[in-house]
Amino acid sequence: MFEEKNHKFTPLSELGEFGLIDHLSSLLKAERPDTIQSIGDDAAIIDHQGFETLITKDLLIEGVHFDFFYTPLKHLGYKVIAVNVSDIAAMGGEPTHVVAGIAVSARSSVEAIEEIYTGMQMACSHYGIDLIGGDTTTTTKGMVISITALGRVHKSEAVLRSTARPSDLIVLTGDIGGAYCGLLVLEREKEVYKVNPYVQPDLSAYDYVIRRLLRPQARIDALRELKSLGIKPTSMIDVSDGLSSELLHLVTKSGIGARIYESKLPIDQQTFKVCEEMKINATTAALNGGEDYELLFTMPLSHYEKIKNHPDFTVIGHMTEANLPAILVTHLNEEIPIVAQGWNSFNNSKQSAQ
Ligand code: ADP
Ligand code: MG
Repeated sequence: MFEEKNHKFTPLSELGEFGLIDHLSSLLKAERPDTIQSIGDDAAIIDHQGFETLITKDLLIEGVHFDFFYTPLKHLGYKVIAVNVSDIAAMGGEPTHVVAGIAVSARSSVEAIEEIYTGMQMACSHYGIDLIGGDTTTTTKGMVISITALGRVHKSEAVLRSTARPSDLIVLTGDIGGAYCGLLVLEREKEVYKVNPYVQPDLSAYDYVIRRLLRPQARIDALRELKSLGIKPTSMIDVSDGLSSELLHLVTKSGIGARIYESKLPIDQQTFKVCEEMKINATTAALNGGEDYELLFTMPLSHYEKIKNHPDFTVIGHMTEANLPAILVTHLNEEIPIVAQGWNSFNNSKQSAQ
């Protein structure tokens, strides 16, 4: 569907591992003053003086987390960085560096890997981080990309999942359910293509949801906005697996209950349209579809006025006392207990949700 523009392919064997690493590092720019040593030695060196260091890793496997049929390589490179940066953001941290491991088939071309790294560098520039090292090896099956991200926070300033308090507001950035709808559209087009490869789909009506899936953004900007409003979240998590599952993390880790309202869930018009077309419930997509990479956080009720009319923050409910469960209040005013149905990598039946 998305054809690679580059038609000249250089086999990896022509460059070899060290040639490839040299080539890739020429695509990368280490620009941060705290990068003391980047690619080229046995380990990189960073100077996080006076800060606590945050470390997170994500592993992405071809066929499980991404499908080359509809994932442009540059977007893939961008996304693998963005999803890691999102984990640092969810700690309230500033992302600083990433380390990238890739396992590629010997049959891959240098140009394909170059596209991925070009996307990675675009994301690094966007988030102000340096890619300072990695590892390269071959695989006999699909591609594997493993990214480790580092970030920093002022001492004791990290925002945990476990520190929400009863009566705190529950807030979401942006909107949710879109990435899952993007996946449904692309999976549908893939089936059409299998039957008739000559049909060129017009996906312009789905641009937003497809972008949500293929090119997510980590909400570092929302963190900055919160800071400028003088709001420090009391607990936070990013929405990678779906709202239900993330909210339950905050609830169980903090040992208190929650109450969210169906009528408050931020869902984009295009997401609604796709749900209608696919005959699925938009609330289900919002609760259980993952990969939106928005931030879900709690904050003191006393700051409500500051975000009340903010276009990028939506109050969806509030935390409750310790002996209460996590509840969704529906449009009909029914109270439904929230259960996690988000992505679980060991449950194959949900694989299509990612
Ligand atoms: P070693 O044998 O000590 O692991 P390598 O030859 O694997 O060293 O790596 C040499 C340098 O290149 C190191 O700085 C390493 O971090 C970097 N590097 C290797 N592979 C990658 C990659 N895929 N992306 C970015 N940097 C890489
Ligand atoms: Mg190595």
